[in-house]
Amino acid sequence: MKSVAIAGNPNCGKTSLFNNITGANYHVANYPGVTVEKKEAKIKHSGEEFVIVDLPGTYSLSPYSLEEKVARDYVVNEKPDVIINVLDASNLERNLYMFVQFMEMGAPVMAALNMVDVAKLRKINIDIKALGEKLNVPVIETVARENKGTKELLDEVAKFGASQKKSSPLDISYGPDIDEVLVKMETKIKDAGFMTAKYLPRWVALKYLENDEQIVSEGAETGGVHHELSAMAEKLNSHIKTTQKTTAENLIADYRYGYISSILKSVVSHEDSPLDRLYLSDRIDQVLTNKVLGPMIMLGFLYLIYEFTFWASEYPVMWLESLFGWLGGVADAGMSEGLLKSLVTSGIIDGVGGVLGFAPLIL
Ligand code: GDP
Ligand code: MG
Repeated sequence: MKSVAIAGNPNCGKTSLFNNITGANYHVANYPGVTVEKKEAKIKHSGEEFVIVDLPGTYSLSPYSLEEKVARDYVVNEKPDVIINVLDASNLERNLYMFVQFMEMGAPVMAALNMVDVAKLRKINIDIKALGEKLNVPVIETVARENKGTKELLDEVAKFGASQKKSSPLDISYGPDIDEVLVKMETKIKDAGFMTAKYLPRWVALKYLENDEQIVSEGAETGGVHHELSAMAEKLNSHIKTTQKTTAENLIADYRYGYISSILKSVVSHEDSPLDRLYLSDRIDQVLTNKVLGPMIMLGFLYLIYEFTFWASEYPVMWLESLFGWLGGVADAGMSEGLLKSLVTSGIIDGVGGVLGFAPLIL
């Protein structure tokens, strides 16, 4: 049975697509040992059976969050036959970051270009054919919310799974400094067979340069050329720090984005001038996340919440006070003097009343 993983940024439409593909007939579990939800389903398409898995939504495959770690581990350990990277067509640049990381890993990835309706609405023209050629993978247009493109996507998945000879990994340039060291490290890793059963040599080298905690500590356990690689990575990092005031990891990310924008230049065009491309949520963000205005707006909101709390709880507090006052009066009049009366009026009614008086505020 072929396994298919659906991956992509949060909110790019993975779950909608997953539901279209599986008819929302799936099994929910957790990934082993963590509380990250895993949706899984078996489907049949053109006579073939597939297992489909919805991976957690992440922006990248650098394991900084649990979700990123789960997604990457799944791809590395379970080796799905096909990965459908769902791309939000209205946010291609950001969405392609993860795609580039899949390609660096040599993962069998193809793309579902989703939200093409939103892109159209925003007058973003995407040349799908050119995009597929540049990325060198099949790209299928979908509108997951309207269940459009699902069949075409599955047809392509079936073909991709069958003809896949392991898509050639993407070797992008990270600039002269990094490239030179990367090649040396790659050779060392290849010659020593260091972690090569699981990973591509160039990818391992890249992870050492990025100081990827997970891979580096796995390397430390493996032994082999680990110390040499660490030393090379450290040397390059201190060189980059003195000459460019940054880290290899940041430089690598910059070059990934550079690679992405070089692709998008010939694939994406806007009918409006780019300056008009600030949409409502971007405009709101500009104000809300402004260095000066942002904190002031936050303080304003906190003040409003504070005022609202007292305003909204004023009457309920008064009602409760009079309720307990009345109860106290009833008990006072109806009970004879003594310990029991003292317990009921001063203990229970005053005590519980005093605490309950805060309940409206807390609510
Ligand atoms: P996930 O976070 O990647 O699982 O994304 P979801 O499937 O939950 O989708 C996020 C939101 O985008 C939902 O409100 C969907 O209805 C909506 N959505 C998904 N696909 C499309 C699409 O192709 N076009 C439009 N306009 N909305 C979509
Ligand atoms: Mg989802």
